Amino acid sequence: MQLIMQRDMGCCGCFGFLRKPQRSLIPLKRSGGPFQDFLLPQDMDDPDGIFYNRDNGNNHSDSDCGSQHFVKRSEEILLWRFHNGLICREVPVKETRRVILSEDDNGDKMINEYVRQCKIGSGSYGKVVLYRSTEDGKQYAIKIFHKSHLLKLHVAPYETAMNDVLREVAIMKMLDHPNIVNLIEVIDDPNTDNFYMVLEYVEGKWIFEGSGAADCLGESTTRRYLRDIVAGLMHLHSHNVIHGDIKPDNLLVTKSNNVKIGDFSVSQVFEDDNDMLRRSPGTPVFTAPECCLDVTYHGKAADTWAVGVTLYCMVFGRYPFLGDTLQDTYDKLLM
Ligand code: ADP
Ligand code: MG
Repeated sequence: MQLIMQRDMGCCGCFGFLRKPQRSLIPLKRSGGPFQDFLLPQDMDDPDGIFYNRDNGNNHSDSDCGSQHFVKRSEEILLWRFHNGLICREVPVKETRRVILSEDDNGDKMINEYVRQCKIGSGSYGKVVLYRSTEDGKQYAIKIFHKSHLLKLHVAPYETAMNDVLREVAIMKMLDHPNIVNLIEVIDDPNTDNFYMVLEYVEGKWIFEGSGAADCLGESTTRRYLRDIVAGLMHLHSHNVIHGDIKPDNLLVTKSNNVKIGDFSVSQVFEDDNDMLRRSPGTPVFTAPECCLDVTYHGKAADTWAVGVTLYCMVFGRYPFLGDTLQDTYDKLLM
């Protein structure tokens, strides 16, 4: 009975407004635990060379075993939501289990129907490359990872970087909002080592109006961006998703000048309003003071703080709390 009601209502945050199509109610086929299907060892070349450098100075250490409890909870909650049809997506994320690497007539590398154009970003675990689909002619940003590499990277005593990527995918699979980057397809062939997240390409640049202090956005752009960031974050929070790393780098701007929240690599999901987290894996200058002070902190409040820091950056073109060293930054935050 409870299940029927939940299905009729849609998910917790949408109250049926975005009713999920019946076909996505099919339970996931999983063998050895949550998302186990993705965890398949292979060998394969990587034409672009993907490299992990989580210790790039931006992130806190992830070695705290206190995270284990929260990571497990996120996975369990996401799986439960999938099984119970509580995913508010009009179009489910496509899942492809076969990779064909080839070249087009111009000698450009292809992954299935996608033709490689250029690298557009690199992140902590992999890189982001721009592709064009030969099927619909559209451009896509594909985040590429090496599974064997991720599986070797321990981010906590019982967690590897692969868990982070699978959680990022699982969270994005349940999100559907104009101010959130859309995950289109996941390509994971058991016989190859690469793992691909095909994302909508958000190709705009942050607009700097040139008035006021250097590097600030100007009032009208700031207002507009803030509205979009808040709309996206409210959607996340209404689904009890904590983003965990809100900052300009992870806020992508479309050609029509709308902001979309991206990068769910450190996000977590909660069952209810209890959003206590134990450690902040986000970026120090965007970290809320309570994350440095207390053992636990509220994830939603910490996200909201990061929006405040982002707003400051948009208005003044600089960080509100930045020291010469990490310790200086924390001291300024806590002053
Ligand atoms: P990481 O977790 O490694 O930081 P991100 O998802 O933030 O990964 O991607 C790294 C960079 O790649 C972003 O800062 C952005 O410049 C670029 N990027 C990521 N996704 C997209 C996208 N959908 N469209 C355009 N650029 C993107
Ligand atoms: Mg990022």
